[in-house]
Amino acid sequence: MAKIYLDAGHGGSDPGAVNGSRTEADDVLKMALAVGKLLQAQGVEVKYSRTTDTSKKLAVRTSESNSWGADYYLSIHRNSASASATGNEIWVIRTATANTQSKAKTILDAVCAADGLRNRGVKCGAPSYNNFAVNRDTNCASALLEMGFISNTNDSAALDKNFDAIALAIAKSLCSIVGVSYKTPDVAGDVNGDGKLTTADARDALRAAVGLEILTDTQKQKADANGDGSVTTSDARELLRKATGLES
Ligand SMILES: [Zn+2]
Repeated sequence: MAKIYLDAGHGGSDPGAVNGSRTEADDVLKMALAVGKLLQAQGVEVKYSRTTDTSKKLAVRTSESNSWGADYYLSIHRNSASASATGNEIWVIRTATANTQSKAKTILDAVCAADGLRNRGVKCGAPSYNNFAVNRDTNCASALLEMGFISNTNDSAALDKNFDAIALAIAKSLCSIVGVSYKTPDVAGDVNGDGKLTTADARDALRAAVGLEILTDTQKQKADANGDGSVTTSDARELLRKATGLES
């Protein structure tokens, strides 16, 4: 089974970059846990560097990954600079092979597609020294992802707004990196196929019911909540009630 080590950067006595009450350590922990949950649902084995706000030395993170025999190591961070600096970037070891660079590019491109922020590219080494320890000391292919700038409120808003889509983008690219074909979980009422039932699915069903949208056969099956063979406004109503917790 494929093994992925998810490293939420910083933690505990080290909040990472900070902007007001917002910390890098918190942001990246939330993302690591969300990605891990999606990966586990695909049958991927996941090891986290941390699952709470705790301190952990870099050397412990990498040696844990090495002794566990991870197939891929992803360290998740947020950038910080002037308030106008924006976008996502990903770092690989200075001596990275084309293959390691291309894996990192897969993740970065998917994140940029999900949050719409500027793609700052795959970078080798580290900003002011030779290599990030997490890339230097890991035995498997690895990368350090910077999810936007915490110093830029617009980047943070993009992270919050697109959080689920970013988690899904990272999970899907990690699956492709370790050779697992990502299967969207089969969830009743999930018309748009994002793996969960939300008000967006109810909206799709309503649009289909009133002729504003044409659904595929699979989507029709999902939208037909009462199972009467057609998509009507009562299906949309039922999906909306389920999505908002008014009905189970
Ligand atoms: Zn960091």
